[in-house]
Amino acid sequence: MAPRLEEFEVRPNESITSNENTTTTTTRQRNAAAAPLIRREEAAKKEPQEIDLPIVWRNVAVFTMLHLGALYGVYLCFYAKWQTLLFAYVLYFCGGLGITAGAHRLWAHRTYKAKMPLRILLAIFQTLAVQNSIFEWSRDHRVHHKHSETNADPHNAKRGFFFSHMGWLLMKKHPEVIEKGARIPLDDLNADPVVAFQKKYYRLLAILICFVMPTVVPWLCWSEDLTIAYFVPGVLRYIFLLHITWLVNSVAHMWGNRPYDKTINPAENLFVSLGAIGEGFHNYHHTFPMDYAASEFGAKYFNPSRAFIDFMCFIGQAYDRRTVSREMIMQRRMRTGDLAGHSHNHDSNEEREYDY
Ligand SMILES: [Zn+2]
Ligand SMILES: [Zn+2]
Repeated sequence: MAPRLEEFEVRPNESITSNENTTTTTTRQRNAAAAPLIRREEAAKKEPQEIDLPIVWRNVAVFTMLHLGALYGVYLCFYAKWQTLLFAYVLYFCGGLGITAGAHRLWAHRTYKAKMPLRILLAIFQTLAVQNSIFEWSRDHRVHHKHSETNADPHNAKRGFFFSHMGWLLMKKHPEVIEKGARIPLDDLNADPVVAFQKKYYRLLAILICFVMPTVVPWLCWSEDLTIAYFVPGVLRYIFLLHITWLVNSVAHMWGNRPYDKTINPAENLFVSLGAIGEGFHNYHHTFPMDYAASEFGAKYFNPSRAFIDFMCFIGQAYDRRTVSREMIMQRRMRTGDLAGHSHNHDSNEEREYDY
């Protein structure tokens, strides 16, 4: 589904100190925020014209079948045992954590550190979600942050709602995504044995964990019908979580408030956060991607992913959570935030340097 990119340069993590409660900005971040933004005309010149990307018909066929299966799964929900429905919800939640606390906050952004048992657990959860391997997911996400809303962004929201939601998975990648993706440093991912193992056996693991296990467990443990077990906790749960995750790339890049940086499209969207277990505070996240909470607010708003990481710290499986100081947030809000609280979709072509 995605081209392999094997050679990458190394760039040290320089964004912030690894300390639970203290945070420092780096020169690079300050420069990135304060540097004069390139004029739209200049940026447009640098950006190649939008090109028609070839459709990957194999992916269209697979997603069509899966969506039809999910619809059948909705119908079968009326005949499923309550244990099966509960099991489907638990799998959805675990798969969600595999993406938010795992692929996103641990591996793509390195916002905290995790010991081996937790890394294995999160890798299993991430496989449950089948959104490409941790390696590919993290690489694409780093490109998304570094080249947000340009042709090099794998799910560039400027190409429209459908493209940023799921269309990007039905087409070949834009050449800019491949070219600029090849320059993203990934040595940390290559050095992680859990990531390497999952990458090596990804197809087999994905079939076993995402489809076989959710079908067999209800059948064995509470004698659920095999068809119901396959289509409800298997296919329907999988497709549902996919759409929830995609909402972060589509809806949260279009609608919501921009209190931290009004010059970017990502927005605060509580509706998305509710489904995506705490990943909808997207204006904050794109402004401060190094924060493990991916939100300014702790328990104030729904953020189970943060609670999960906190709990893992409590039992000694996670450590070195990175946060952003209150002063830094306030300074940034005063400088770039939409202090009126509301802002609509921003159509800027200005090029910025993002950290990730
Ligand atoms: Zn984003
Ligand atoms: Zn991110």
